[in-house]
Amino acid sequence: MQDVIIIGAGPAGLTAGLYAARAGLNTLILSGAELGGQLLLTEKIENFPGFPTASGLDLIETIRTQAESAGAKLVREQAISVDLSLRPFHVQTESSLYETQTLILATGAKARWLNIASEEKFKGRGVSICATCDGFFYRGKRVAVIGGGSSAVYEALLLMQLAKEVIIICREDHLSGDETLIKRLQETPSVQVIHNAEVMEFLGDKKVEALKILKEGQESEIALDGAFVAIGSDPDSGLVRGQLKLDEWGRIETDKLTGATSVAGVFAAGDVQQSGTRQAILAAASGCLAALSAKEFLLNPK
Ligand SMILES: Cc1cc2nc3c(=O)[nH]c(=O)nc-3n(C[C@H](O)[C@H](O)[C@H](O)COP(=O)(O)OP(=O)(O)OC[C@H]3O[C@@H](n4cnc5c(N)ncnc54)[C@H](O)[C@@H]3O)c2cc1C
Repeated sequence: MQDVIIIGAGPAGLTAGLYAARAGLNTLILSGAELGGQLLLTEKIENFPGFPTASGLDLIETIRTQAESAGAKLVREQAISVDLSLRPFHVQTESSLYETQTLILATGAKARWLNIASEEKFKGRGVSICATCDGFFYRGKRVAVIGGGSSAVYEALLLMQLAKEVIIICREDHLSGDETLIKRLQETPSVQVIHNAEVMEFLGDKKVEALKILKEGQESEIALDGAFVAIGSDPDSGLVRGQLKLDEWGRIETDKLTGATSVAGVFAAGDVQQSGTRQAILAAASGCLAALSAKEFLLNPK
């Protein structure tokens, strides 16, 4: 039996693993198929203290090595169900059933799609949610980024290094996120921002060729070669739906001082839990908190 199982291996889960192992807990991290999480979708991180510039992959590999060196065991299995009514808790993967005294949920978040009919038709045919993965195909081309928050800013910054022209379609009258990065976008002549506009439809034959937008009551079309949807993400909390208290957005409710959830012995960290801002440093910090709280719970179960 494990002292602690951590589900998820993004910055939150790996940091939880590092701290749990260093606290002497018998620690298992289930990484799922995508070890590294959302940071693997970004080529360059400039705001993680101690790493002036790092790729998402390098940062994740550094934390993973540190966690494993401290004694955390990492397996590339996906948790397919958990039973929080049993003691010890049960965690089922495709190949094994694990038992654990405490559990840390660090399953992160998944990118949101627009959910308009034509999007389905053009997914993988010019409509993407990952500039790091697909931006290369648009070298020298004209692309749109749909969204106005941090995700859109990150995607546009990456695309402006590859594409001839980047058009950001933003519903609000301003972009939000890291001001330094927004300024960099605004100062780049090949980047144009269309504010107060909503995407109605993707148009094209075999692949996307244009976007229909609605701006100030007027519909218009923008010709392009590709479009990147960057409208944020939803917490990946399906595993514990009905077993833990979630807020109206599906984020796991946690105690801010401990990371404790509504079930004693279960903690949550990173983007899957309630946090105003989604950043790697915050995910890592909450992973630390959850691990130390799990240790405290094992010493003084309540
Ligand atoms: C394009 C992009 C660029 C970004 N750039 C920056 C940046 O420059 N700076 C910054 O600070 N932040 C950035 N962020 C935000 C940052 O990546 C996230 O805040 C952070 O990764 C959240 O960490 P997390 O560990 O909570 O979750 P995630 O990174 O989402 O990791 C979740 C992990 O859980 C695993 N998982 C999910 N379900 C299961 C399951 N059932 N079983 C096993 N494993 C499971 C996943 O496979 C994954 O490994 C960016 C995000 C995006 C999308």
